[in-house]
Order: sequence, then C-alpha cells, then structure tokens
Amino acid sequence: MVCEKNHQDLKDLMDLLPTDQGGVGRHKCAACAYEAGYEAGYNLDGSLRIDTVLSSLEESQAGAQRHKSPHAAFALGYYNGVCERTKVDNQ
Ligand SMILES: [Zn+2]
Repeated sequence: MVCEKNHQDLKDLMDLLPTDQGGVGRHKCAACAYEAGYEAGYNLDGSLRIDTVLSSLEESQAGAQRHKSPHAAFALGYYNGVCERTKVDNQ
C-alpha cells in the first residue's frame, strides 16, 4: 500500500533527514515513520521494536519524504515526542 496522507506540514523536517534506499525501511513513508516515532516518544514507549513499527507503515514514492531514512525519521519523531511530553509534564 502507498501512503496517501498529505504530509506537507512535515516537509521541513523531511528535508533534514538523510537519504536511505536500503534496509528494512526501504520505500517506507518517512513522514509516517516520524509520526509513529512522535507518538511513541510522547507516550515514553520503551518496549517497541523499530523494525516492527516500520514494517507496518505504508510505502511512499512521492513528496519530501521520498527515499528519506525512516529510521532517522522515527528517531527524530521520538525525540520531539519526548520533548513535547517533557514540556507538558513540567507545566
Ligand atoms: Zn505517510
């Protein structure tokens, strides 16, 4: 399945990511990987397996997320999710 979400709001973040065309995440939607990472980070999910998460994502052939590393996208999303959670907890 190909991702049909509009990830325009994540374009600037996608531009920061390294290109990756190999490995388990090949062709997976890096923007969806970012969103999954953000969600996991926000929930402080420490029990996940990145390979499992990535393999459940849709593929992408278009947009700024094309051929971007889903691993890096997931990690960046996780980091931003944790930061957002920390902000909320400290208020
Ligand atoms: Zn997507």
